[in-house]
Amino acid sequence: MSLKLTLLGTGTPTPLTHRAGSGYLVSFDEEVLLFDCGPGIARRLLEAGVPPEALTRLFLTHLHYDHSVDYACIVLTRWDQGAGKIPELHVYGPSPLSRMTERLLGSDGAFGPDLEARTRHPGSEFVYERRGGILPRKRPEPIVTEVADGSRIQAENWEVRTAEVVHVQPQLTCLAYRLDTPYGTIVFGGDTAPTGSLTDLAQGGDVLIHMCHLINNVELDPRITGCCSGHLDAARTAREAGVGTLVLTHVTEQLEPPGVRERLVAEAAHVFKGQIVFAEDLTEVPVGPIDPEPIR
Ligand SMILES: [Zn+2]
Repeated sequence: MSLKLTLLGTGTPTPLTHRAGSGYLVSFDEEVLLFDCGPGIARRLLEAGVPPEALTRLFLTHLHYDHSVDYACIVLTRWDQGAGKIPELHVYGPSPLSRMTERLLGSDGAFGPDLEARTRHPGSEFVYERRGGILPRKRPEPIVTEVADGSRIQAENWEVRTAEVVHVQPQLTCLAYRLDTPYGTIVFGGDTAPTGSLTDLAQGGDVLIHMCHLINNVELDPRITGCCSGHLDAARTAREAGVGTLVLTHVTEQLEPPGVRERLVAEAAHVFKGQIVFAEDLTEVPVGPIDPEPIR
């Protein structure tokens, strides 16, 4: 079976109808992996034809809300629709992910009263049994693993490795993830300024999904260039890592006007000679050569 990569959300904290927050879906064999779940990603999953109960694992690059605010929504809808018949979701991310999970879903958490009602009230028990659940109903308990620089998550035929990247430390740790499968390698750069740790992690990858938050040579203030990347930063990292395809994502509105995005891709292509994809929500990106089809 092949490796399918779908860009669910390609935006920033700015609310836009055509760009949800960050979220990237990868499916192969029995795995359905989601990397980040910013605002709108729970909805984009449905639009991509994937019900929440199909998810097997969730990876969070960092706990900025544009990458994580749909976490509770995804866990709760997956649990509710799964009706006790699916395994708990595995969730990976930097500290304090365990604390965030407890404060959302624990008995004293934000959704504690909801979960108390949904596991105890006769009306909720009725719905649960109609969905095939067997009482008593248990609460959702996602299996949380906090990861850090150099972590390794190994499964039978795939592996994920992490590297810390440069974003808004020390308040939040941000990680990049590298997913190696028998069908190809995808690297999720997270939010970062240019850094050798991402270049090293991405070496030889098939696809590098890289932040493109600003226009290099236009945005020069070190307060923003010290924590975010532009199109040329992304292109240099892609070149130095020797990846096949660069996906420019985390797209701000100033990159969008007609003529601007084309210029950015053209300038990036001077630096990086591989394939470049300017990200759009719900785009499926081939993990391998992208060949144009002839006119039919
Ligand atoms: Zn972000």
